[in-house]
Amino acid sequence: MAHARRPFRVLVTAGPTREHIDPVRYLTNESSGRMGFELAAAAARAGHRVTLVTGPVALPTPPGVKRIDVVSARDMLAAARRAFRGSDVLFMCAAVADWRPLRKRTGKWRKESESKEVARIELVRNPDILASLARARGERLVVGFALETGSGKARAREKLRRKGLDYIVLNGPTALGATHTRVTILGRDGSERTLPRGTKRAVAEFLVRLDRPARPSG
Ligand code: C5P
Repeated sequence: MAHARRPFRVLVTAGPTREHIDPVRYLTNESSGRMGFELAAAAARAGHRVTLVTGPVALPTPPGVKRIDVVSARDMLAAARRAFRGSDVLFMCAAVADWRPLRKRTGKWRKESESKEVARIELVRNPDILASLARARGERLVVGFALETGSGKARAREKLRRKGLDYIVLNGPTALGATHTRVTILGRDGSERTLPRGTKRAVAEFLVRLDRPARPSG
């Protein structure tokens, strides 16, 4: 992040989102929030001003970081949008649920009858927070993450382009909830760097030092 004046204002999103079916049930995923919390901690250690917008996770707030807790993807979009205005850099690390129940029941969803064996939940698409923020990015550095099975590089590149990012950090499903990860960083300039498998802390230290990609690929 040597492209702008120091300290930068860094926005990190982390963790899963919860999409409620009723007051006590929800859809979510296995994200622990570790990568985002390590990024926020690394950015704060590097002297940056850090805001961390996080879904529900069981992690302590890193020292010196302003934390905003959210629940659903729509909450996260609203909080991230507000914080993005005053940021120079975005790391969109959160594992945002792609879908939410079309309607949230106000009371507990009860079994309608003991003989009923199948029930359906209708889902509706959540907003793509990253794509939406990146559209209004101006001069900001925008970094996304992609969790892909298999090699997934082509899919990650396609996301980088479609969502209008500077970088996308590609990691495999074993990174979910783990302390270690192995990432490949794809740049808008066509660059590709694979880091050796390491702790999320070590990967975070590398990521907060990323420079702006050399040139746009158009
Ligand atoms: O499309 P996919 O979910 O694989 O893209 C991953 C990237 O997009 C991550 O950076 C994630 O935080 C972001 N994302 C988002 N809003 C969504 C889905 C994904 O910001 N609804």
